[in-house]
Amino acid sequence: MTGRSGEAMEILKRLAEQLGEPLYSSQLAAFARYGELILEWNRRVNLTSVSDWDELQVRLFADSLALAPYVRQACAEAGDACRLIDIGTGAGIPGIPLKLVLPWIEVTLVEATGKKVTFLEAAIQALELSGVRAVHARAETLAHDAGYRGVFDVATARAVAPLPALLELCLPFCRPGGWGIFPKGAGVDGEVAGARRALEILGARLVAVEPVQIEALRGTTIVVVRLERPVPERYPRRPGMPAKRPL
Ligand code: SAM
Repeated sequence: MTGRSGEAMEILKRLAEQLGEPLYSSQLAAFARYGELILEWNRRVNLTSVSDWDELQVRLFADSLALAPYVRQACAEAGDACRLIDIGTGAGIPGIPLKLVLPWIEVTLVEATGKKVTFLEAAIQALELSGVRAVHARAETLAHDAGYRGVFDVATARAVAPLPALLELCLPFCRPGGWGIFPKGAGVDGEVAGARRALEILGARLVAVEPVQIEALRGTTIVVVRLERPVPERYPRRPGMPAKRPL
């Protein structure tokens, strides 16, 4: 453990300000601790391709914070307990950074790889996060569990699948009126154009496709969709199908 302090988070501090999400020193310290844990575990468990401290602040943390204004807005109508699910969270991205900046939200982190879930449990404990749970499951299976289906205000996912497959994996977790909020990179226009049929079948509407306006995150675009009615019971299809044969 390198014992970095919140002061080692200068890059994140600056980018968070540019994003309109300034961080308190206690939040910067929590991000520093979380970053240390990621890099430490990454030596043993393949958590993320990011292995550099500066890159971690930009590509994992600031990229997640770019979602915060959208999540805050979506949660405003959910009242006190806003429930967010992060599908294919890996090392907890973007779910844990969002929890650190929006501490009142309840976060469910879903991850198919057991070793990553072990990391998530360790991180939840080390960061003393309440209202965060890690679930070892595939989205295709978990979305048919009554305790998870149609109950979330917000579903998010980063770097998991192209948009048509992502919508099938994520929207079944949302209540009607709930939101899908996804950071996307290059190729977003093609993904959005290819997602029209999935939106129609699943019962959702495209609300926004907005490039992030700060230089360091150039290329990141936020896609926002809203679920208008319950997702038909047969979706998501069996594991692997959403990616193999996108709607
Ligand atoms: N979201 C994290 C990030 O942005 O750093 C991790 C991205 S990583 C490229 C994709 C992750 O999604 C992997 O950890 C993988 O195990 C998980 N995953 C892929 N398909 C999944 C599914 N159907 N259900 C749950 N997890 C899934």
